[in-house]
Amino acid sequence: MTCDELRAGLGAYLDRELGVAHSLDAEEHLTFCMSCQWAYAKEREFRALLETRLPRPPAPAGLRARIRAALDAEARPRFRALLTGGRRWAALPVALLVLLALAVGLRPLMAPAPPPPVSELVAQHQVYSRVDGPAEIVSTDQAAVAGWLEQRVRFAVPVPDFSPAGIRLIGARLSALSDREMAYLLYEKDRQLVSLFAFPRRGVTLPSGGWIDVGDSSFYVTKVRGVEVVLWVQGDLAYAVVSPMSRETLLECALTVRRLARTTSGSGA
Ligand SMILES: [Zn+2]
Repeated sequence: MTCDELRAGLGAYLDRELGVAHSLDAEEHLTFCMSCQWAYAKEREFRALLETRLPRPPAPAGLRARIRAALDAEARPRFRALLTGGRRWAALPVALLVLLALAVGLRPLMAPAPPPPVSELVAQHQVYSRVDGPAEIVSTDQAAVAGWLEQRVRFAVPVPDFSPAGIRLIGARLSALSDREMAYLLYEKDRQLVSLFAFPRRGVTLPSGGWIDVGDSSFYVTKVRGVEVVLWVQGDLAYAVVSPMSRETLLECALTVRRLARTTSGSGA
């Protein structure tokens, strides 16, 4: 950031309306540029003076409504671009976001946060879908992966075959859900990660609403940040399939696991 750029954005910076990236640039510039430090101090002094000395005139009647209307008209297309643009959140000043929330209503974005185990599972899925080599044991062999898990977790985990749906096994890793041990099986189709989690259900608060019945089984289904989640309970374990793939595909996977888990726990007990 040059001196000129900093001076131009000084007001916005002081109003905390510069956006994260530019604010960081400005901060960095201010750590070494004496002349901008001076300008910054002066501007701050001036603003402080304004705040204490000048009485605030009341906003003329109807102003608020006009601002809302203007924002409404202007904000909608931009807001839509935001939804598809993803990363552009950072460039928007917080104050504008708040106004946008008031003006157009952030209902879909402000949907109630998913219950803790669900958001944690989605977070893990998202982290491991971004790393190279997310599995600790890399193997497409069900028996090898099952054997690896058997030696590391205290509960029996079925390793299903999703290949009829074109979803192939990558491997597995050990994970944790709120400090409880969790088995994490990784699958992939078309470069999209399919995460299958299994963890002891005891002590985990599962969502109360949002369950659907498929056949004789109940599944909790939701979509969080573009990722589908299907979660269910079977015996002492809870399972979850998490992926950006379709809900139907995930439910198919879930039913496959259910069938397999039924036979696994039946023979193991
Ligand atoms: Zn400077």
